[in-house]
Amino acid sequence: METLHLRGTVLPEGDVRDIWVLGDRLTFARPTGGATTVLDGGYLLPGLVDAHAHPGHEPATMAFDADRFTGAGLAYAEAGTTLLRVPGHRAPIPPELRGDARLPRLVTAGEWLAWAGLEGLDGPQTVPADLTAAAVAQARANDGWCKTYGDWEPFTAKTPVAALTELCDAVHAAGGRVAAHCQTAEGTRNAVLAGVDSIEHAWYLTEDLLTALAARGGAVTPTWSGFLPLVADVRTKPEGERKTWFLDGVASLRTATVTAHELGVTVLAGTDALDFGDVVTEIEHLIAAGLPAAVAVGAASWDARRYLGFPGLTEGAPADLVAVPDDPRRFPAVLRRPTLVLLRGRPLVTAGSAHRSGDRSAAADA
Ligand SMILES: [Zn+2]
Repeated sequence: METLHLRGTVLPEGDVRDIWVLGDRLTFARPTGGATTVLDGGYLLPGLVDAHAHPGHEPATMAFDADRFTGAGLAYAEAGTTLLRVPGHRAPIPPELRGDARLPRLVTAGEWLAWAGLEGLDGPQTVPADLTAAAVAQARANDGWCKTYGDWEPFTAKTPVAALTELCDAVHAAGGRVAAHCQTAEGTRNAVLAGVDSIEHAWYLTEDLLTALAARGGAVTPTWSGFLPLVADVRTKPEGERKTWFLDGVASLRTATVTAHELGVTVLAGTDALDFGDVVTEIEHLIAAGLPAAVAVGAASWDARRYLGFPGLTEGAPADLVAVPDDPRRFPAVLRRPTLVLLRGRPLVTAGSAHRSGDRSAAADA
């Protein structure tokens, strides 16, 4: 296989470096033998991450469809998103899809596991007789993660803290981690107090909960992209407790985004998409909420990879990267036009290796 050579400003450190690609590995040591320079100039960052995605599910039935999954994965890869965490899927991701080198790497969490007392579940969830045993089994069968719920409907019973604590203790003892859907004050509190690692949707977080989450290295995934498109319609609805719950919950995402970061919680960019999810738009939502742009880009790149157990652009790291002509920490929209994407060392986008000087103004205007 041909050795590729890239030179650019490596993020987040910001040093200009030479990188060589040997198969699916990066090295900073010039290899013996020739190399083809595919990029000289611009910025290099670790492949983007959608930390909350459910690719391949039919919206109407939530059935898993392999063709749909492949289509979503190809679109993700072309856009520079080389890693997906999938917190909830109907069936095991088939090995031929996991092994498809054209598709992003996966961190799967298995079935959407719900406590039996939750009301109004809408179809995709599995309600196991033994929630804890099912969670451990899914973490083991997947990539060390399981997915459960702190709550579902806002005005009915939430998953009790005791049930969540038993689940978290067992999954942690098995070496796994727990992601939990949380959209109510009680459900969110129960999940944090129980030891959930990653709070998904993350409504109604408070400083005391974020402090506890930070102390154990926890994360939040605000999934702004899943909620903001609904807000205008909800505002037209008659006043009532459900409307108030929704709008207050979305408003609370600023705390989940900004205060979380300030208190030391890892913020993750997640789209909650069923097909291709636009991570760059989620980065822009995080910035609009008040997160520093460099942190928002990290939430979809180096910080997300670190949290999920994948290195950034370090010696021997997997060869997943995105090259852009300008600094995405200053011009995040530049991430929409990568000059080069590498996934497993394979070039996916080669829009010319030369630095395209027109991108700076376009990105600044966007
Ligand atoms: Zn989701």
